[in-house]
Amino acid sequence: MSDPTRPLPHEDLNVRSEVAPTRPTFAVDLRRCIGCHACSVACKTAHDVPLGVFPIRVRWLPRPEGGGHAFVPVFSESKCKDDPASTSAGLAPACVRACPTEAIRFGDHDDVTAGGANQTLTGPEATDLKEDVVYRDLPDWVAGKLNRGAALDPRDEDPIYEQR
Ligand code: SF4
Repeated sequence: MSDPTRPLPHEDLNVRSEVAPTRPTFAVDLRRCIGCHACSVACKTAHDVPLGVFPIRVRWLPRPEGGGHAFVPVFSESKCKDDPASTSAGLAPACVRACPTEAIRFGDHDDVTAGGANQTLTGPEATDLKEDVVYRDLPDWVAGKLNRGAALDPRDEDPIYEQR
């Protein structure tokens, strides 16, 4: 369940932070992700990201065996990690607060990675965040596909990103 104490969407997402994590890390639990794009939209809104630019892209990857998709938020940059002041006092980054399933956690690396097997993406889309975004329950076929940087199947591209 989401945290009812989180600020409402209209509240300021960029209140100043007093304490920054020593090694800021995002941890994404793919068992919880429903592919809703809320994290992507919240990041763009909080940081005034221009049209057509997506610090977080949520990939919808058709399962090879059929039966729906795997959803993977891929971080290519982080406004919050590189600017700790943008994480507000006691508040998590916008993507974390926007996620309806609490799939994303943010904090010190050792804290958010404790108690689970965590993997990273190494592909070109993961650019400067290879070590700073970890995934739980990252299937091998998903990691392989994203890490190869291969041209994605057209069905992997959610049409929302192609709108201008
Ligand atoms: S907001 Fe949460 S559930 Fe929605 S796409 Fe992002 S990580 Fe997945």
